[in-house]
Amino acid sequence: MQNKSIWLEGYNELDYEIINKDQICDVLIIGGGITGLSTLYNLKNSKLNIILADASLIAHGLSGHTTGKINYLQELIYSDILKKYNYETAKLYYESQIDSINKIKEIIKKEKINCDLEKVTSYLYTNKENEIEKIKKEKELLNSFGANIKEENKEIPYINYLYAIKAINTYVFHPVKYLLALKEICLKSNKKIYEKTKITNILKEGEYYICKANNFKIKAKKIIIASHYPSFLFPYFFPIKANIEKSYISASLSKKRDITAINSKKPTISIRYHKNWLIYLTNSSNISNNINEKKNYLDHLNKIKKLNLKAEYIWKNDDIITLDKIPYIGSLKKEDNTFLIGTGYNTWGMTNGTLASLILSDLILGKVNKYTTLCNPLRVINLKNTKDIIINLFSNSKGYLESKINKNKDWYENIEFKNNLAIYKEKNQEYIVYNKCPHMGCSLIFNEIDKTWDCPCHASRFTKEGICIKGPSTKDIKYK
Ligand SMILES: Cc1cc2nc3c(=O)[nH]c(=O)nc-3n(C[C@H](O)[C@H](O)[C@H](O)COP(=O)(O)OP(=O)(O)OC[C@H]3O[C@@H](n4cnc5c(N)ncnc54)[C@H](O)[C@@H]3O)c2cc1C
Repeated sequence: MQNKSIWLEGYNELDYEIINKDQICDVLIIGGGITGLSTLYNLKNSKLNIILADASLIAHGLSGHTTGKINYLQELIYSDILKKYNYETAKLYYESQIDSINKIKEIIKKEKINCDLEKVTSYLYTNKENEIEKIKKEKELLNSFGANIKEENKEIPYINYLYAIKAINTYVFHPVKYLLALKEICLKSNKKIYEKTKITNILKEGEYYICKANNFKIKAKKIIIASHYPSFLFPYFFPIKANIEKSYISASLSKKRDITAINSKKPTISIRYHKNWLIYLTNSSNISNNINEKKNYLDHLNKIKKLNLKAEYIWKNDDIITLDKIPYIGSLKKEDNTFLIGTGYNTWGMTNGTLASLILSDLILGKVNKYTTLCNPLRVINLKNTKDIIINLFSNSKGYLESKINKNKDWYENIEFKNNLAIYKEKNQEYIVYNKCPHMGCSLIFNEIDKTWDCPCHASRFTKEGICIKGPSTKDIKYK
């Protein structure tokens, strides 16, 4: 069994270019996941000089670790939006998802991308009595928007349910094949893509943003933050507007079926098939909870075993959950389209990352987009959301406080803490790091499975040697 995403299998030796001199451009896109690459793709025929920089490799972030569903049946999201806003807003979000699904299909068809796109039937189900009414309401709401959602009574493999509904026009694909194809198309259109190129500082000087990129500078008139969680706190102070949800996913050999399924209530169970692989997701929780990763990992494997399956790949992923279940896409500065962001996809980033690319490319080109107001990241957080803000702050601080107080976890085997340092011992060797995430100062949790230091507040990750391998932190925690 391999501790890696099935989507990254076979992509160990990719060609890439690292920045090797200072650069000036019209637009700098920071991040080469579905948001950044789809935006670059939409802008590929413009005369703008555009650079995309990724700290790692294209598609190796969250987009390379998803379940790869392209789906508008997203738990109870439309009822949630209806509660927080109104019918029109819920309907507009539905339309945004349909448009995004159509956009992905259109790109795949036009560019003849071989990324295993398949039409599937998707189920939303529950095995709890008190959830049935909620799912029925979601069905009615979706049908009032024009969707064709029906009840299901037949058996759904690997799923025990009391009540389920189904949608037929939904899809699955291989996210890494899709993104690597977009990369090739953009390179052929003479757009620059730098990988292993981390942006660590952004300063505004006159009409340019000056960005530190490894040991070089990129001067850009406009910036698009497509890096998932933004590394900076201001403007915007993101931590009070979102929390992070993590889950474990595995791939086991199984009979192929053209379905996906997800339950309506956390903790999430989600399935899809890819060729003869069953992709199974469990153990979802707020990143600040269930911080013993070895336990989560073993727990997931136990669940797989009970289904008589054998996981060949296992990995974890995390995504940003917004307060109102609508993504944050657009300008971070009022009446100024030079500093843009696309994030907060509530675990539905294949559609919402594509939606972001449509909004962001229109903002860059000065075009009107139907969904700009819906997703405006500066939208006023209304009073209906106060409870959510408090819950969000509480759950986020829980990670911070727990990381500070309870350092000597009883599950740690080879870890020692000394003042502000943490020491991991392996085969007579000591790896010493600063036990503080450079992003917002949380203490770190040692992940016994991947041998990494993970931040329980905002999901930054560091190798045992202290090198930052995942943001929002842009700095290492190396000691000497
Ligand atoms: C368990 C799980 C399952 C999911 N399954 C689905 C699904 O089936 N369908 C669906 O629609 N969505 C799904 N999602 C959500 C989806 O995976 C994400 O929303 C989406 O991949 C986010 O894309 P992104 O482009 O914003 O981020 P990423 O793909 O992470 O891209 C961001 C990139 O920015 C780079 N970066 C970060 N910091 C810097 C920096 N300082 N300088 C330069 N580059 C930087 C990173 O290296 C990374 O490559 C799932 C999420 C989870 C947690």
